Formats: sequence, structure tokens, C-alpha cells
Amino acid sequence: MNIAQWLQARALLTPDAPALFSGSELKADYRQFAAQASGLAESLQRDYGIQQGDRIALYMPNRIELLVLMYAVWWAGAVVVPINYKLHAKEAAWIAENAQASLLFSDQGQSMSEVGMPEGCMELGVDTSTVRAMLECKKMLIAPAALAPHTLAWLFYTSGTTGRPKGVMLTHDNLVAMSLCYTVDVDNVSIDDAILYAAPMSHGAGLYNFVFVRLGARHVVPESRGFDSVEILDLGKRLGGLSMFAAPTMVKRLISVAKAAGSDGEGIKSIVCGGAPMYAADFVEALDVFGPKFMQIYGQGESPMTITAMRREIIADRAHPQWHKRLASVGIPQACIEVRIVNDTLCDVPTGTHGEVLVRGITVMQGYWRNSEATQDTLVDGWLRTGDIGFLDEAGFLTLTDRSKDVIISGGSNIYPREVEEVLLRHPHVFEAAVVGSPHADWGEEVVAFVVASSGAQLDGAVLEAWCKAEMASFKKPKRYLFCPELPKNSYGKVLKTVLREKAREPV
Ligand code: AMP
Repeated sequence: MNIAQWLQARALLTPDAPALFSGSELKADYRQFAAQASGLAESLQRDYGIQQGDRIALYMPNRIELLVLMYAVWWAGAVVVPINYKLHAKEAAWIAENAQASLLFSDQGQSMSEVGMPEGCMELGVDTSTVRAMLECKKMLIAPAALAPHTLAWLFYTSGTTGRPKGVMLTHDNLVAMSLCYTVDVDNVSIDDAILYAAPMSHGAGLYNFVFVRLGARHVVPESRGFDSVEILDLGKRLGGLSMFAAPTMVKRLISVAKAAGSDGEGIKSIVCGGAPMYAADFVEALDVFGPKFMQIYGQGESPMTITAMRREIIADRAHPQWHKRLASVGIPQACIEVRIVNDTLCDVPTGTHGEVLVRGITVMQGYWRNSEATQDTLVDGWLRTGDIGFLDEAGFLTLTDRSKDVIISGGSNIYPREVEEVLLRHPHVFEAAVVGSPHADWGEEVVAFVVASSGAQLDGAVLEAWCKAEMASFKKPKRYLFCPELPKNSYGKVLKTVLREKAREPV
């Protein structure tokens, strides 16, 4: 299977259907989209000697050409190495070198001029006349390469919060399975829909393109090439039927801008939240402003977008007796996934007990690129060790409590920061909160809460101490509250707890 066949089939079925938009401007229909991808694939093979299995890195902010490039690479039977454009050129060069990439595409073709290209790798700029000419093709020149089962498609480097990033190997079959799960477990898609790429396309947002290609929907990259709440609200009104993937921090920003503008998200059909904890209080606020437009997914690079999901009808079902608990969960395992919760010795624990989340299924990676040691540590007896801690309830809903390394052990008791954060966020004057452990002479670790107050609100430690006292067991309560204007986050919107742990250790 070559996933580029989905684009070929769609272009044959509805060639005139609008496909690629920059902002609200139509740039290509499906005939042109497929023609450009196949034409580029042909020149990659002819002019640059690209062969099946070669790696091609893509390092640029979101733009519509990124989709054409991805499909061109697959059309030629090669492998996409997506690189987050926010990474430093040195980090990008390290990834291109580790992946042994032959080509690296960037905007101008000069992103590596300061740091130098890895040996054997050449940089090409999408905005140069060379590549523009390659994109000019008017009809499909060649068919997508015929590929053997389990051929590598997407070599994605993990964000590497611990040590060097690792290259996650995903095959065309993994991507097909992931995409089919979307329609079964997340949302329905039709030709009238549009997918908006406001989050980085080098990550999950980009991987959501397939099902929208398969069904002939529109693909929209905002003119800002990133996340801008005002622009998104405007695009919703202009284009209608918008679906998007958004990290919880983006959802929060979008909702607060919409609320201030009196908007109910007209033209926005679906927002799939994931990538970091979406707190129950934030869901309630989002539902109040936008109505039932939200889904949640839990995944990781190693099983992208597909561990669990929670559909809109569950998120919006306020009458359900378990509604609040379910809002704080990440939903049920997706169709192609099995989930187990295990203890330190990898034995199953009873329902309701915290443990590490293990995952098995046809979306799970083949292993890490040229890193058999890490592969052996992570894929154990066919199960992916996620490093996330959580528990399952009677109905199969998974609640994530934390990354295993974020769990706090104080006085011998496990404290799951997520539980404390959920309580803090229910306070009407708390905008954001993150809880970490900090070394303590008597207790081993103490609980420290970093809090961002809602704008204009007066908050102090005593108020939050009283709030937590009324809501949770005493040993879980933060011992210190540190107020800050914002929380440090990485480019995917994940709170950087390592940075907070360091801050918590600073002398007061
Ligand atoms: P990445 O591989 O960069 O996509 O990061 C995956 C990690 O993000 C997971 O292992 C979780 O720790 C976290 N994550 C992803 N989705 C969610 C979610 N819906 N709720 C809480 N954490 C999440």
C-alpha cells in the first residue's frame, strides 16, 4: 500500500473539487494537487536520483506546498522526515543527519547556511525558481510507486525532552490504520468539510490530512501559517465546515478570543483536542462558548493520534452521571488499539488502579530508526510502553494522570499532578496551573503549584490553600504556590515541567 494512492484515486474521482487553500484563497483543485505531487515525484527521481526508501526532510512552517511535498515524496516511494520548523537549524541538521536524508526542503533553501548541511544531504527551497518549476506540472505523469507491505512512510523525531530525539518509524499501513480510526472513533468527514492546519503540520495536524484527501475535502493553511484566533474565527465564517486539531492551550486561546468577540465559532465544525492534558474545567468553558464541537484524542508519536478518543456526543452529554469524570478522561481505546494498565513489573493491575499505559495495535510504530536499544526498551512483547500513567474505569474510559517521570512521591505516597491541577483549574480565578515535585529533606518531594491567574483577578496562596483544603486529601495539597504570568511551553503547546522543576528548586 502507498498512501499516495488515496490522492491519485481522489483526483480521478473528483478532479475539479477544491483541494488546497491559502487562507480563503483557492490554490489548487484535486487534479492540480495530484499533478503537482506526481510531477515533483518524477523530478525527484530523475533530477535528484531519489529512490524508494530514501529519506527527504521537510523543514518549514505550515504552507500548502508542504502537502504537495509530502505526497510527492510518497509518490516516489520515499520517506518523509518532518522537522518542526521551530527547531534550531543545528537540531534540524542533527535530525537530517541521523535520518541520512538525501534532500531537505525549506522555504528559501538557506536554512542550513549558518550550520552547514550534513554530508550527502542537499537543501532545496520551495520559494526558489527550481522548485517552483518542479511544481508546475499540469497532469499526473506517473503512478505512485508500488510498495511492499510495511514500507516506511513517516520518520518522525520525538521532541526529545529526555536526551536526543529518536526517529519513530511509521509505515504506510500505520498511516492508513490511523486515518481509518479517525472516521470511526473521532468524527465523520465529507467532501463539504475543510481541514485547517493551524497546529504544526510536522506533527499530528499534518497526519490528519489523509482522511480528508480520501474523502475529497478542502485543506486550508491560514495565511499566518500558524495559530491566530481571530484569523481562525474569520476563516470559519468564510469557508464553513472547518475541522482542526488543536493543543489544549490553543483551544483556550481561541475560546477566550471568541468569548470576548461574542462569537460562537460559526463555520467551525470540529475541534480535536490532544497532545497535552485538556482539563475538565476548560472543556466546560469551551462547550459553553462553542457548543458541541469538541473531541479529544490521546496519542503519541509512537502511535500517532490513535490511542484513545472521546467523541463529541460524550463530551457534550451534560446529563450523564459520569460526565465530569469523563471530561477529565481521554476516552476509550480507538478501534485498532488495545490498552493495558500495568505495574512496575509489567503485570496487569485491577480496574481503577494507576499504572503505566501499554498499547498494542496496527498504528503502533515499527521501532526507532537505528536505535535498537531504545526500541527494545519501548516495544516489549509487542506492547508499546507509553511512559504515561493512568487508570481505566469500568466502562473502559482511560484517565491519564501523568507522564511516569512527573509523578510526585511525597512521604511515600504517589501524587498525580493532574489531579491537583484539575482542582486548581476549577477555581474561577485560575487561568492555568501546573504542578511539579521539588526535592524536600523530610518528605522526599513536596508539591509545588505554578499558577497563572485569570486576567485582572487577585489571587494569593492563602485563597488557593483554602480552596484545595476543601477539595482534596491533605497530603496532595501544594505546599507552595508560585504565581507567574504564563507557563513555559514547547512549540506543540506542552507545558515544560522540567523547566518548572528547576524553577521550583530556586531559593525563595
Ligand atoms: P508526542 O509524542 O510529542 O505526541 O507526545 C505524546 C505525549 O503527549 C503522550 O505520551 C502524553 O503524555 C501527552 N498527551 C497526548 N495526548 C494527550 C491528551 N489528550 N491528554 C493528556 N496528555 C496527552
